[in-house]
Amino acid sequence: MPIPFRSSVLRALALVLAMSPATRAAPAPADLVVLNGKVLTVDDGFRVAEAVAIRDGVFVLVGTSAQARALVGPRTRVVDAAGKTVIPGLIDSHVHALGVAESQAGGSFRDLRTIAEIQAWIREQTAAARGGQWVFSPRVFPTRLAERRLPTRAELDEAAPRHPVVVDAAYALMVNTAALQAAGIGPDTPPPPGGSIVKDEQGRPTGLLRNVGGLLDRYKAGGRPERLLPALEEVHRRYNEVGITSVIERAASLAGYRAYAQLRDEGRQRVRATVTLRVDSDGTVEGTEAFIRSLALRFGDGDDRLRVGPLKIFADGGILAGTAFMRELYGPAAASLYGVADPAYRGFLTISAEKIRNIVRTGHRLGWQMCAHVTGDAGVDTVLDAFEAADADRPIRDRRFTLIHAYFPTAAVARRAAALGVAVDTQPAWYYKDADALLPALGEARLRPFLGLAEWLRAGVKVVLNTDHMFGVDPDHSLNPYNPFLTMYVAVTRRTEGGQVIGPEQAVSREDALRMMTANAAWLSFEENRKGSIEVGKLGDLAVLSDDYLACAPERIRAIRSLVTVLGGTVVYEADGRR
Ligand SMILES: [Zn+2]
Repeated sequence: MPIPFRSSVLRALALVLAMSPATRAAPAPADLVVLNGKVLTVDDGFRVAEAVAIRDGVFVLVGTSAQARALVGPRTRVVDAAGKTVIPGLIDSHVHALGVAESQAGGSFRDLRTIAEIQAWIREQTAAARGGQWVFSPRVFPTRLAERRLPTRAELDEAAPRHPVVVDAAYALMVNTAALQAAGIGPDTPPPPGGSIVKDEQGRPTGLLRNVGGLLDRYKAGGRPERLLPALEEVHRRYNEVGITSVIERAASLAGYRAYAQLRDEGRQRVRATVTLRVDSDGTVEGTEAFIRSLALRFGDGDDRLRVGPLKIFADGGILAGTAFMRELYGPAAASLYGVADPAYRGFLTISAEKIRNIVRTGHRLGWQMCAHVTGDAGVDTVLDAFEAADADRPIRDRRFTLIHAYFPTAAVARRAAALGVAVDTQPAWYYKDADALLPALGEARLRPFLGLAEWLRAGVKVVLNTDHMFGVDPDHSLNPYNPFLTMYVAVTRRTEGGQVIGPEQAVSREDALRMMTANAAWLSFEENRKGSIEVGKLGDLAVLSDDYLACAPERIRAIRSLVTVLGGTVVYEADGRR
């Protein structure tokens, strides 16, 4: 495929030509025009146009088909939208494409839906493994298993009496007896930093490990680094197929950033990317400063293709695994979903409030935008305390600090975030896939504001919607599904996968949902003057859609597909039948 990004030399040359007297009279032809569309510009007035023209990677016209036709030259690519809706290229502002690529490089993702399927998968794996070799499951969540709980240690022992087995639920792991033995985890083992080893009444580990991060990573088989780049390129190609032209990679190491830089340098980058870097420090001011300096990168460095994004910390766990830090007790109804025996349990922070404050203030002092993974309402309180401390050092209002997930907003919390200019990055897919299972466990009062988009909007908080895509490459059946139209469908309808509507007052308009995946997302990475809307001078990224996003029946929104995806004026995807 052609390289979608023009070199700056070409751009400079084009500028010189554009200024020459010969071309001043008649405007230079466009590289690509889209005619006869219903163009949702997503500009401030949500203006609708009919046609666009792109030259040298940017929109040079947004207007009527007649105006655009005047810019068609012998080498102009003409896309007839035939009445279809055209939107700005979508921005998925929270993906883990690097993680997807790494797991795809090691074999394709399996979506396990029952404990029996997990056991069968384990038997398959152990039959092929040497004795003593560790087996790590694909990611599963108790909310997405038919039994609505993780397998017990005994169920894992039944499937794997000899091989150490780890069932991965992200912010919780369930392991079998062989794994406890091989890792040396016993009644006297102290909890690792930020995590807990759950024990029964006799003080023996049950096999459930909460928020233990990479504690068992050293037992994983090594990856295949030579397969990473092609796999990453392939993930990005899949994004193009659903209309995505930009991403924010949401928790990379320096090596992950370098993988993106290599794709860029080799002309293989198919989406614009901002790379969020995960803070890896001891939580002291000195340690954090040393970590940041070791990156040898500055926030915002880069260009329209690749930018150095914010720093990210992890404040608590997740609501799917019962490790979100909540104001109220999880309660008895949540016991089986989460394997909670302690009646006073309400989750916990994975790093102390003091460390959160140290990291946030240090990053801010060194000029970085800061963002925090935080799911529970008590966790949000703690992170906002840290943001306020940073704000007291020097105002953070224009730094666009971000709460990631922040599932249970109240009006007061939303006002507090708004006062600080804090944005929210959140994922309707969690509501869609998990609210059916969370409802009986947590109760309706707690679930009504779950992913409560309207609550944030009412307070004036800028919200970006995205998918948290981390495994698999099917738009509707990966974890999470990265189909952006599913995300917007859920934001608009508040419908769960099971068809329930919990907290209909939290639904937002179609216009708002689209803005949250375009203009707001561009704003989050300080690129609102470059992209996120179809306006003259902005980057020529767009998608032509299969259905009328604004007018189709609500149920059809999630089935919308991109027919043509354009990145910087180059077609990077075209559906079958349109070629
Ligand atoms: Zn994530």
